[in-house]
Amino acid sequence: MTTVVCSICKRREVFFFRPYSGEKICKGCFTKSIENKVRATIAKYHMLQYDDRMAIAISGGKDSASLLRVLTKIEQDYPRVSLTAVTVDEGIGKYRDEALKNAAESCVELGVKHHVVSFKKIYGCTLDEISAHLRKEGKGKLTPCAYCGVLRRKALNIAARDVEANKIATAHTLDDETQTILLNILHGNPLGIAREKPITDRLHPKIARRVKPFCEIPEQETALYGYVNKIGFQAEPCPYASEAMRNPIRVFLNRIEDKHTGTKFALFKSAARIRPAIENMQTKEETTECTKCGEPTSGHTCRACEMLQQLFDL
Ligand SMILES: [Zn+2]
Ligand SMILES: [Zn+2]
Repeated sequence: MTTVVCSICKRREVFFFRPYSGEKICKGCFTKSIENKVRATIAKYHMLQYDDRMAIAISGGKDSASLLRVLTKIEQDYPRVSLTAVTVDEGIGKYRDEALKNAAESCVELGVKHHVVSFKKIYGCTLDEISAHLRKEGKGKLTPCAYCGVLRRKALNIAARDVEANKIATAHTLDDETQTILLNILHGNPLGIAREKPITDRLHPKIARRVKPFCEIPEQETALYGYVNKIGFQAEPCPYASEAMRNPIRVFLNRIEDKHTGTKFALFKSAARIRPAIENMQTKEETTECTKCGEPTSGHTCRACEMLQQLFDL
């Protein structure tokens, strides 16, 4: 029996077939290919300037654990760039405790500083408490995830400011991005497509720009990168069901991708092409500061203050 050899190094044994490129790749070449892809993405979208102070949002899950590893390698090409890992503790019982432990351990291993902020400290309540309150009061139609999304966004921004970072890197993959594009369309919110870019605009001095170095890498490959490089992470999913529509969309996209390789990339590119038109449709909103908490917002009060106010009748 002959072993199939890697189409890149022509030497080592193949362990992964990349459907959209036709490459058969060995473990070593696969790891390099992911790191090079991230380097290319960073260059393409100008995600990293020579003296950036980058906060990396890590959850303890697999994608962000891989991102932390890749970015610590790439950072070596940029002697003046500094990296700090930041984690938001939403307060989700045992689930978060284990994730936090994993996040802390990977930072120690890689010699990266780690800063944790919590919902409890910032908002005075945990996500578990919000969820319990929602159940008790039967309020509105919003799920805990809807709160979590808004509160996390603000908390991450605060965390980045705490560590004096001007950019925040998140581990959103091609899968996350394409799901969000479809979600925005199905929710009748095309403006959402304009907002979710590989790198956000400079909106306000108090908002760190967000970058997504994994945005052109399928989730299957970030997971495989973690596996090949023996990166520890929390495997258990969050106990709160995600946004109602995201799961069926994930299943749908994976099914189409299986039959029609390259569909996710095509959808990602379509969004990039229509984004400028959507941005032109939008009336430019000025970013000011929330009258309650002082965080940047386009309204009178920020969405986080608004949601908590409605929830607790403050
Ligand atoms: Zn190889
Ligand atoms: Zn506010």
